[in-house]
Amino acid sequence: MDLKRHPIGRAAVPEGACTHRWEADVVIVGGAVAGASMSHALAEYGISSVLLERGDDFPEINRGDAIQPLTWSFFERWGVLPYMESFGAYKLHEWDFINPRVGYLGTWSFTDLPFKFNHSVILRHRNIHRALYAAMEPRRDLIDPHRGAMVTGAVVDGATDRVVGAVGTIGGETFEALGKVVVAADGPHSKLREFVGIGVEQRYTYDEGYLMLTIPKPDVPELDGRGIRYVGRHGLIVLIPLDGGEDMRIPLQIPKGSVGEWRAMSGGELRHQLLVRAPILEHADTGAALGKLSHFYNVAWQHSDAYVRNNVCLIGEAAHTIHPTTAQGMNMAVLDAEVLAAVIKRCFDVDGVSDESLRRYEQGRRDTNATVMETSHSQGLHHTGSGLWHDIWGVRVYRWLEDEETKRELSMRIAGLRNPTSKDMNILDYDLEAVR
Ligand SMILES: Cc1cc2nc3c(=O)[nH]c(=O)nc-3n(C[C@H](O)[C@H](O)[C@H](O)COP(=O)(O)OP(=O)(O)OC[C@H]3O[C@@H](n4cnc5c(N)ncnc54)[C@H](O)[C@@H]3O)c2cc1C
Repeated sequence: MDLKRHPIGRAAVPEGACTHRWEADVVIVGGAVAGASMSHALAEYGISSVLLERGDDFPEINRGDAIQPLTWSFFERWGVLPYMESFGAYKLHEWDFINPRVGYLGTWSFTDLPFKFNHSVILRHRNIHRALYAAMEPRRDLIDPHRGAMVTGAVVDGATDRVVGAVGTIGGETFEALGKVVVAADGPHSKLREFVGIGVEQRYTYDEGYLMLTIPKPDVPELDGRGIRYVGRHGLIVLIPLDGGEDMRIPLQIPKGSVGEWRAMSGGELRHQLLVRAPILEHADTGAALGKLSHFYNVAWQHSDAYVRNNVCLIGEAAHTIHPTTAQGMNMAVLDAEVLAAVIKRCFDVDGVSDESLRRYEQGRRDTNATVMETSHSQGLHHTGSGLWHDIWGVRVYRWLEDEETKRELSMRIAGLRNPTSKDMNILDYDLEAVR
């Protein structure tokens, strides 16, 4: 093969022989939830992967903490679930919607889901990462993870123009990783996506963002096994009991551009602002709310024009980013991995590896993701409406909470149960003996 190295960002690509040379069936660039799940999903089919993640530790970051029931069932299938439990996974069955001035609006519940798991699971994002990596240990025959591995270039087969690997640096040394398929799980600013020339459509620009706070969970029954969404005049504030139930994550909706004002507030002012939005926080210690774990998150709704090109398959935020109110981003990433792994298995067994055969993944996932994004967007608009009118008339927006049919349908969607899996798509329904 005539292999050529091309830079995918501003950093230079290594030249000549690399210190490390890794080979596997699949090369995965980006080892957060999407990439790590991809390794597990492939291992289920006996397919090996090299996983390249630039971060060398597991920092405390504010990203998705809510794992929906369908995703939980994959973690069970891949043997990850016990690790998640050992890191303190916390079951959440219901969400209450409350307007601080109007009162209780209704409850959104998973309790009656016709599924093995009738709850979502909350685990702080760092512990989701840790659990995914701990669960790789017994699968090291198939999963070869490298943390601290910064990918700076793509390896392209000059004869076919297809991407067959990645190069970069790790601990001051160089590496080259080669495979039959390359997966881009390198997040919303994916350099691999840019490299293969896949465009991104900006579907909606939101006026708000989220200040993500973490405080000790107040000891009140209203937050036992349930979360609260306060809506209304000041916008959304969500109270999410975290793993083990000792801490609580608080995404706080604030106008874009106002983060400086919030950060400049005294502890007393901040407490007042929080209590106006979420009165139950009078029982909470908010003193450390703006401490080192606070973080501002810009919301974006973006969808890549394609998921597959030149042997590169996009998953997770490399392919899509959505409004976080219905907690779907991470769950979409995991289902991407579940479906793509089955498609790759099918390519290896039956169809051969080509963009055309890999596109079965795009055909199976892109429209479903678009629907999930529409639901998140419309729910996002309901939850985040703000201004005085929202206290007076805005509660009408929550009439869906009184309609059992609408609520059931929404619970099914949020749980992920309306999203076809690889099994629903019959991707692996072939007789291998007959094919051979
Ligand atoms: C505040 C917030 C709250 C959210 N809440 C929820 C929720 O409750 N539930 C939910 O389902 N989703 C939620 N989401 C969305 C969810 O967190 C993301 O969709 C999901 O974590 C994305 O995972 P990912 O692996 O695709 O991308 P990322 O987490 O962005 O990971 C990309 C990885 O690629 C690595 N990388 C990038 N470039 C390179 C390179 N050149 N070389 C090597 N490595 C590289 C990065 O270091 C990173 O680890 C939330 C998001 C945010 C920001």
